[in-house]
Amino acid sequence: MSRTTELLDGYRGNLLGVFGDPALVLVEGQGCRVTDADGRRYLDLLAGIAVNSLGHAHPAWVRAVAEQAGRLAHVSNLFTTPEVVELARELLEVTGAPPGSHVFFASSGSEANEAAFKLARRHGREHPDAQGRPRTRVLALEHAFHGRTMGSLALTAKEAYRAPFEPLPGGVSHVPATVEALAAELDDTVAALIVEPVQGEAGVRGLPEGYLARARELTREHGALLVVDEVQSGIGRTGDWLASTSQLPGGEFPDAVTLAKGLGGGFPIGALLTAGPEVSGLLGAGQHGTTFGGNPLAAAAALATVRTIRDEGLLENARAVGEHLAARLRDVPGVTDVRGHGLLVGFDLVPSAPDDAVAPRLVAAARDAGFLVNATGPATVRLAPPLIVTRQEVDTFVSALPDLLRTVSST
Ligand SMILES: *Cc1c(COP(=O)(O)O)cnc(C)c1O
Repeated sequence: MSRTTELLDGYRGNLLGVFGDPALVLVEGQGCRVTDADGRRYLDLLAGIAVNSLGHAHPAWVRAVAEQAGRLAHVSNLFTTPEVVELARELLEVTGAPPGSHVFFASSGSEANEAAFKLARRHGREHPDAQGRPRTRVLALEHAFHGRTMGSLALTAKEAYRAPFEPLPGGVSHVPATVEALAAELDDTVAALIVEPVQGEAGVRGLPEGYLARARELTREHGALLVVDEVQSGIGRTGDWLASTSQLPGGEFPDAVTLAKGLGGGFPIGALLTAGPEVSGLLGAGQHGTTFGGNPLAAAAALATVRTIRDEGLLENARAVGEHLAARLRDVPGVTDVRGHGLLVGFDLVPSAPDDAVAPRLVAAARDAGFLVNATGPATVRLAPPLIVTRQEVDTFVSALPDLLRTVSST
């Protein structure tokens, strides 16, 4: 029995089956490469689903985590540490948050969105409707993914994720991503609109041209918060610190932004950024909390991640290599509708029948050929490599793709 088979048996016997069967047992990583339990090597074009921004075992990240672990790992929220203060300051600075903005640290994307949901509820109480009743409605988009905890699940659209756990926290409506639908739904009972600038889990789908700018105007007009979920798109993934500010007039910062995935470079951390003093004042002392959120170890990891992205020009790299990758994919026969947002790239394959799961077959064939990629749907593939990935590395995948497509279309 191979080491992989043995460990997968152990996995099945001991871990809850919520993720299905893992495809691999990984033991080691370096840069954009990972190694499995039987010594096979892979080019990692997924980065733990947009998490390992600096790739694996980046020296700056390893040093920061090791030094912090040897100094002070956790202190509770009764105290704070220099790393937490510096990280908050640096995040507000790189994202262009307005004066008076603040940060709440959590440990995941779902938790960051839970905090945003609570912020929306608080805003709804502070800004009642014309009848003096608290605004209780929150608008989210069709196909939205905001997480799996009860609150973030209420914001998530997918019926299959929601149905087994109802009732979920109420007041959420999912609307199509069109300005018309938004204009029709927005009134003074709406506390907030939450949107992903690029819907990653839905197959890397950007918002329609001009949507976010119009959403900003409409939410302001109706007194609702504009909350942007940048858990997947933020911190350099799309070639900017935030994917939303480049879509807003004058690079304006939304009322609130959530971050997680790429922020810690592999260390669990999430964040809610609140714009300006008024929004930041909605959650006061005693109204929210968490034990691990923004502990010094997580903060040191995130600080090293953010500083390395800045100092090594990784935003520029994400933009340049991302554009190159998308352009090359467009030339591959059998690949359709390439959607590139920096190093968050989605594309579709042509299924042989309506229910043909061609993308999962491609993912398996790619893995056998030494590439880690991901299917977000039966015919949709997602790439989210580390922000350090080179043109040469992505080229090896694009060059292998025609053969892989031939393999999967003949099976
Ligand atoms: C992954 C993701 C989440 C959930 O983050 P977790 O860390 O898995 O809880 C929320 N929103 C978006 C846009 C995501 O991609």
